[in-house]
Amino acid sequence: MRILVNGFGTIGKRVAWAIMRQDDMDLYGIVKTKPDYAAWIAVKNGIDIYVPGEEHLKMFEEKGLPVKGLITDALSKVDLVVDATPAKIGAKYKELYKQYSVKAIFQGGEKPEVAQLSFNTLCNYEQALGKDYVRVVSCNTTGLLRLLCTLDRAIGVEKVRALLVRRAADPKEIKKGPINAIVLDPPNPPSHHGVDVKTVMPKLDILTYAVVVPTTLMHMHYLVITLRDYASRAKIISALEEVSRILLVDSSKLSIKSTAELVELARDLGRPRNDFYELLVWENSITVNGKELMLVQSVHQEAIVVPENIDAIRAMLRLEEDPVEAMHKTDKSLGITGRLTN
Ligand code: NAD
Repeated sequence: MRILVNGFGTIGKRVAWAIMRQDDMDLYGIVKTKPDYAAWIAVKNGIDIYVPGEEHLKMFEEKGLPVKGLITDALSKVDLVVDATPAKIGAKYKELYKQYSVKAIFQGGEKPEVAQLSFNTLCNYEQALGKDYVRVVSCNTTGLLRLLCTLDRAIGVEKVRALLVRRAADPKEIKKGPINAIVLDPPNPPSHHGVDVKTVMPKLDILTYAVVVPTTLMHMHYLVITLRDYASRAKIISALEEVSRILLVDSSKLSIKSTAELVELARDLGRPRNDFYELLVWENSITVNGKELMLVQSVHQEAIVVPENIDAIRAMLRLEEDPVEAMHKTDKSLGITGRLTN
């Protein structure tokens, strides 16, 4: 199966790298608009570059970077495109993908209507089987859904109230802020994240507020969850422990209490790009009071959606019908073990 990745930024480069580690799909190439360092590294790694239009060819030629062809050349050869272009650009490409009868995965920056399904492996893998257009929800929504679908399956979730403390920009971005403020996002809550969760869990009573803070490392979520049934703290921990895509972080044992230390941990573990594909739940924050559960979780925004993109490819191309098997294959290829390993 041949896969094209359109947009080779924060998400696209990671998804392309992950595709290269699968044995049932091939990275056909990537689409780039700028002949920058990322293009240079792609060429060094033997990845074929395609460009959106004739106007880009000259720019690449001037920098001595070989281009294999136009996006349309690639679309006539591939089975599926992972669109990782900036928010709202993916929707503009949809007509082109349709014209070439190529299946497409869109990212969370696109509106849900762009696709037939908003996707999270732990929640609705089966619904993505054979679909033509799927949207892998955003990093924050992926983090929320991994937790909520796991808890819903194990115990039942009735109501969620959450505050999302969002990173201002990705580490590579130099034009975004704030650099000295905490910004209400939006000033009139709720934030869109709860609404987005409902695209996958429509019956859930969820309300989210969000603020943006001057950091680039991770998001941090503070959640108050009303469970359907009484459950002990031990039962909740064991339900979370069973899922490889959720890591419990024992802050006492590791002497860790910040996202900065988590990133340092990823560095010391030798993880590629310091990435945490897993949702990181702060174990010591888990408190149960009757049916009410409180906890704090961290989301590495650059990496968390990568496994779901690979799973979505498998579902849409029917490379694997069983969600557990599909997840297992992706996890194995990316070194996701459910434990703090490299
Ligand atoms: P990015 O800006 O890092 O990467 C986008 C890439 O697409 C860039 O390399 C850009 O040059 C390229 N591009 C721009 N216009 C293009 C065009 N017309 N055709 C082809 N390529 C084009 O963006 P990103 O952070 O990787 O985000 C991509 C998508 O993933 C968005 O929908 C975003 O909301 C979503 N997402 C981002 C994050 C995150 O934290 N960065 C997390 C989850 C989901």
